[in-house]
Amino acid sequence: MLLTKTNYLLYRECPQNTWVKIFAPDIYHAQPLSAFDQMIMSTGSEVDELARQLFPGGVLVQNRRDDALTKKLINERQEIIYQPVFWTDKFETIADIIVWNKEKNAYDVYEAKSTNSESEGRNKKKNNDLYSHDLAFQINVLKQLAIPVNKYYIVRLNSEYVRADKLNIKELFSIEDFTDRVTDLLTDVRAEMDNAYDLLKPENKPRGCSCLTKGRSAHCTSFRHLNPEVPAYGVHDIVRIGASPKKLAELVDSRIYSLDDVPEEFELTEIQRNQVDAAQSQKIHLDLPGLAEFLDTVKYPISFLDYETFPAAVPRFAGYRPYVHIPFQFSLHVLETPAAELRHYEFLHAQNTKPDSAFLAALQKMLPDKGSVIVWNKTFESGINEQLAKRNEAFESFIAQVNGRIVDLEDPFKKQFYVHPGFHGKTSIKYVLPTLCPGFSYSALNIREGGTACETWNKTVTGDGTDQEKTKNIRDLLDYCELDTLAMFQIWKHCLALLQNQ
Ligand code: SF4
Repeated sequence: MLLTKTNYLLYRECPQNTWVKIFAPDIYHAQPLSAFDQMIMSTGSEVDELARQLFPGGVLVQNRRDDALTKKLINERQEIIYQPVFWTDKFETIADIIVWNKEKNAYDVYEAKSTNSESEGRNKKKNNDLYSHDLAFQINVLKQLAIPVNKYYIVRLNSEYVRADKLNIKELFSIEDFTDRVTDLLTDVRAEMDNAYDLLKPENKPRGCSCLTKGRSAHCTSFRHLNPEVPAYGVHDIVRIGASPKKLAELVDSRIYSLDDVPEEFELTEIQRNQVDAAQSQKIHLDLPGLAEFLDTVKYPISFLDYETFPAAVPRFAGYRPYVHIPFQFSLHVLETPAAELRHYEFLHAQNTKPDSAFLAALQKMLPDKGSVIVWNKTFESGINEQLAKRNEAFESFIAQVNGRIVDLEDPFKKQFYVHPGFHGKTSIKYVLPTLCPGFSYSALNIREGGTACETWNKTVTGDGTDQEKTKNIRDLLDYCELDTLAMFQIWKHCLALLQNQ
């Protein structure tokens, strides 16, 4: 079995998980890919194809196993080759683009990445390290095959680029020379490739899993298989326990995995202790003065507002940068007075055109001009509003006024004014709603979370589905977003009733 570049990079993250991927694929793929993962994959393909336009006129190696065609093209010194396939006796890799450099009599190697230089932020160092190893694997394989190579580049999205009416491919991408840092790594990476090749054998079944002392967010899909004694909800799910590895290690060393077994004297933060107490006692923890103070900030008419957006890697409309979210939908429930009937409004832009004007006009028309605007996770809606204001100056003061009225209904849960054992330490509306309002749940809907909503919108406006499929998708999107705002209303009502009944 040849070691692929993808498996080598995964091995660098975790040899155990790579072993499971190769030799126990049913376990590795037991969880279907999330809509978010699928979106990342299709974004990667879109960016790869666009990057080829930087080097037009190349030959594409269509079949991902066609090393024979690659050999022929290389022997002919084909000037530009897309997706060439290289195999040695141990390794296999596919490069994105190679370009013959006549002056140097060697190929320049370009690796396209769908990341955006600015949004990488603190991940930039980590990503650069990953990309250097990615290129070093490729260069080692090419050198072993005696293919002359000159320079190695990373091609990624330029976060500064703002699209005009037409997409400018040259401005969309930034090309960074990684030759020096890759050259420095080649020997070490070659040794690591050989180690990985030798270690990833059926007989070397992994024992242990270092994530046993890491919080749940660090666990991969193999965790359950490698640690069957760890419950689905337990000490690994204690809020921010991943930031206290010593504490978690202490529990794991004592083989304490269930929240029921965490000793009363075990040192935890107040937030962590509240979660553990709620799980052990199966009782609700309430801070009624805190909850009352929060609810007092909510003013009539009350608007419950939720946005759905699509983060297009390649800016689709004028004024957009890479990964700036396209706001394609909102749902709004309005309660004018305590005795009034709840009214529902909605907006969905079901075309692949810039939605800004229609979105803002609908919002301005439907949203009351005073009172509180309740959202769940204020950073998101207010951030989308700020981006809308930047692109649409005429709406600046309207948007500033809306942002000034936003109240975040997640706050009382984040601040632990209300801790319920059913929340499992989470404050997502997907946990809070079914726990507090059992008659309301996302489980009966075709779309149950934001990732699927944004992928469904994209498929509907760009895909070639039938009219019937598109109509169904639009209905599913409307149902999903409507439940988000109805959920906020129900949760707010539940909290209010709780206080009134004290
Ligand atoms: S849970 Fe962590 S250590 Fe265990 S296999 Fe997954 S990534 Fe590796």
